[in-house]
Amino acid sequence: MKIKPSDFPILAQQVNQHRLVYLDSAATSQKPASVLAALNQYYTHDNANVHRGIYDLSQRATTAYELARDKVQHFIHAKKREEILFTRGTTEAINWVAQTYGMTHINPSDEIVISYMEHHANIVPWQQLAKQRGATLKYIRLAANGTLDMHDADKQITARTKIVSITQASNVLGVVNPIKQIAALAHAQHAVLLVDGAQSVPHMPIDVQQLDADFFVFSGHKMMGPTGIGVLYGKRDLLAHIPPAQFGGEMVTTVSQNDAHFQPLPWRFEAGTPNIAGAIGLGAAIDYLLTLDMVEVAKYEQQLTQYALESLHKIDAITVYGADDVHQTGIITFNMAGVHAHDLATALDQLGIAVRAGHHCAQPLMRYLGVAATVRMSFYVYNTLDDIDDTVAAIKEIKDYFK
Ligand code: PLP
Repeated sequence: MKIKPSDFPILAQQVNQHRLVYLDSAATSQKPASVLAALNQYYTHDNANVHRGIYDLSQRATTAYELARDKVQHFIHAKKREEILFTRGTTEAINWVAQTYGMTHINPSDEIVISYMEHHANIVPWQQLAKQRGATLKYIRLAANGTLDMHDADKQITARTKIVSITQASNVLGVVNPIKQIAALAHAQHAVLLVDGAQSVPHMPIDVQQLDADFFVFSGHKMMGPTGIGVLYGKRDLLAHIPPAQFGGEMVTTVSQNDAHFQPLPWRFEAGTPNIAGAIGLGAAIDYLLTLDMVEVAKYEQQLTQYALESLHKIDAITVYGADDVHQTGIITFNMAGVHAHDLATALDQLGIAVRAGHHCAQPLMRYLGVAATVRMSFYVYNTLDDIDDTVAAIKEIKDYFK
């Protein structure tokens, strides 16, 4: 990878007297210096509210904010810029769809279909919608190797299905789902498909038109952007016919005592002052990722993952969840016999290694796997084979300590 150490200043530090090895990018990624500089530039030189001011500063802020929308559009290959709505993140985007499209299209006896590998963000909003509308929430099963059981998907998606909501990449198993095939199943039943791209957009080339997703959502902070900014992509014809998620300033043209007229897309979904700096930072993150090339990003992470899997398999006490060939993104979830996941993560932290332990906001999947907690290491382009060697050596050391 064409990464300079100075690109990620945060990684040049010691934690607990050891070199920091950051293996929790699935939770949030580190930010390149160019993203930090873009945030600094905005607040230092261009800070003003967008869309309102006729003065130079406000126009500069508006231009930068709207340029970020164009960058997102091209990054995920959306047909039109008005299909890109800025949200706080994946969670907010899914909630918006549930409470706008869902509330207006789901009726009692309708079905919403998700899978057992979803993050809580792609479960709880649908549970709530199903309760509100008297609908049924159904789950697609997983095959033994951890992939989505496509026979079951075919069975669960029926004429009663109105919404299918599936993650493109699992935040626990690193599995990448066949979205095009799922879109075909959903569309054959006249259902819409929402794709949770939180774990895919940062790590591979994305083409929402080719995937045929109706809605596609992701978070800026997992793809080197700031926290508090995310994206809801929706096909224009769908967005044009659903009510705004929130109401207030910025999303209106005229307001009378008892009524209001709304802006056209995309602004009618962006009530109030948006996260201007966040959008600009996300645009800078996209610029950075494009210099690396998303095909190369995917390839590099695959190399790291296969190397890590080989090394972990040499430690007999380690159980990795999901077969090796289903690990298509840089995520490995595992346990060590006789050592609780939290103890292992705490011991690794003492050696400067940051991994995640727990249920990874995917409790139905944990139950499905029959475990209460696991350790997860997740890679990004700034990780190296040295990071993996140091982590595997640390795991061996911890194993001997607990023996
Ligand atoms: N979906 C998946 C697959 C995730 O991994 C996450 C975060 O870990 C989310 C949704 C929620 O993202 P956010 O907390 O940024 O809204």
